[in-house]
Amino acid sequence: MTDPRLKAGLLQIYEDLAQDLAQLAPVCDLSGRCCRFKEYDHRLYISRTEAELLLQDGLPVDAVINEDNCPFQKGQLCTAREKRPFGCRVYFCDPKYAGQAEILSEKYLEQLRELHRETDTVWEYGELHLFLHEAAAQRGLSTTSHGTSTPET
Ligand code: SF4
Repeated sequence: MTDPRLKAGLLQIYEDLAQDLAQLAPVCDLSGRCCRFKEYDHRLYISRTEAELLLQDGLPVDAVINEDNCPFQKGQLCTAREKRPFGCRVYFCDPKYAGQAEILSEKYLEQLRELHRETDTVWEYGELHLFLHEAAAQRGLSTTSHGTSTPET
């Protein structure tokens, strides 16, 4: 993330999202379901910009990278809370919140794309584990993978 406007814009989007969520007040019961992808049959897609912020301080030392879980989850909790991607921030199990994640995603992902256009930054978007594998490879770590795809541009 070479352009400082990109990080500042991303943090502003996260802040604006937090204000929208404060209005909606969905309940998080700390089940940890949002981070156990295989067990609860969902996928986490993020942009490269978000991945760079998430990985700013590197991977957890004991990281096991695969498509099934997030290596930042310890117990039921996220250890990357301040830097977690947008998809994590909008995910709540609260039934009263049903449908809101899609609305917020549409609103803020468009803002994030616009931020990339304004800063002449290539838009890359893919599953979390693809970016984690890249980071691990740069550190010379071995990982487990069931796929070989790369983030979309
Ligand atoms: S970054 Fe945090 S909230 Fe997001 S999937 Fe990983 S552990 Fe869960």
